[in-house]
Amino acid sequence: MIYLDHAAATPVDSRVLQVMEPYFLTDFFNPSAAYLPAKKVAADYTVAKATIAHAIGAKSSDLVITAGATEANNLAFSSLSSDAATQASVLYLETEHDSVRQVAKKHGGQAVKVLKNGLIDLDDLKAKITDDTELVSVSLVNNEIGVIQPLAEIASVIREVKFDRLKRGLKRQLLLHSDASQALNLLDINVARLGVDLMTLNAAKIYGPKGVGALYVSHEAKLQPLTYGGGQENGLRSGTENVPGVIGFAKAVELAKEHLNGNRKKYATWRKVLLSELQGYELINKKHSIDNFIVLCYNGIDAERLVFLLENEGVYVSTGAACAASKGVKSHVLAAIDLSDAEIAGSLRLSLGETNDEDQIHQAARIINDVVAAEKERLKNA
Ligand code: PLP
Repeated sequence: MIYLDHAAATPVDSRVLQVMEPYFLTDFFNPSAAYLPAKKVAADYTVAKATIAHAIGAKSSDLVITAGATEANNLAFSSLSSDAATQASVLYLETEHDSVRQVAKKHGGQAVKVLKNGLIDLDDLKAKITDDTELVSVSLVNNEIGVIQPLAEIASVIREVKFDRLKRGLKRQLLLHSDASQALNLLDINVARLGVDLMTLNAAKIYGPKGVGALYVSHEAKLQPLTYGGGQENGLRSGTENVPGVIGFAKAVELAKEHLNGNRKKYATWRKVLLSELQGYELINKKHSIDNFIVLCYNGIDAERLVFLLENEGVYVSTGAACAASKGVKSHVLAAIDLSDAEIAGSLRLSLGETNDEDQIHQAARIINDVVAAEKERLKNA
């Protein structure tokens, strides 16, 4: 098997699994319990949270642990004040993951346009911010095309608006949220440098366990609890802590940090190899992309059929976000960057990762070329 779909899921690193195991078997205690072994578990949990927080330049108390990125994204929207005017109180990038898009739409949010290269249209953002805007949500790395958004520039636009509001005596909050689910293993993230108030993290995309995520919350953002009960996570997310999950998340973060530069170089090299050995495609994410994403368009060919044919040859790729692919709906991301329906239908996403090696990259290029050539031949004779 040659797995080229690491943006959809990554396997748990064996070193991650190893540190998690004791918290399932022997150190299984509820961190809130009063006896000593439970207190040790509570302490280990806090240390793990601090490791995750330090990796983005934050403190343990700034993080709310969640059951994945979807939940963290939803929780970010609880920062809206109860009197938020529904129209224009939320702005979100039109290429956001559905876990942002859908909740933003529920709050009457407006989409900010992207340019053809997938980057935010800053003029559109400036035009759409009104005195009612409370929250702007822009992911750091897009999950379908890998484009890295200029968050620091967006934060600077927001700072200017806040300054202007202050001068006019307007008290309405204006927060910047970023879904960094796809970013943590290849970008050096610092929340202060990026100027974000809320940031979503996801263990499942960095060789950690699925169903574990976190929301970074700056002191400016005031959230409403998602669940009520035992008051865990500063009262914002009641429920017994997922200790093994968080221990694993912290180890995955540590490994990601340690190998960040090496991995970036490795994926950038493999990306170049693939782009030079593959034939007859148009590259969709030419610039501003994270190193492990390649989006190819084979004009006139049905990419869904290619996914199926490639699977038969042991190569696993995707036509876009796994969830969109499973619903058979047209990618809103590719539509937003102005691709035609035919181009969208012919687009394949390859996302490289730790299950790959250089041999696999050459093999994958050869297999994809062969499958595409055979498919072209079939269409010619049809
Ligand atoms: N945000 C982005 C950018 C993603 O890629 C994903 C997962 O595909 C999510 C959010 C949702 O993550 P989860 O399914 O772990 O909640």
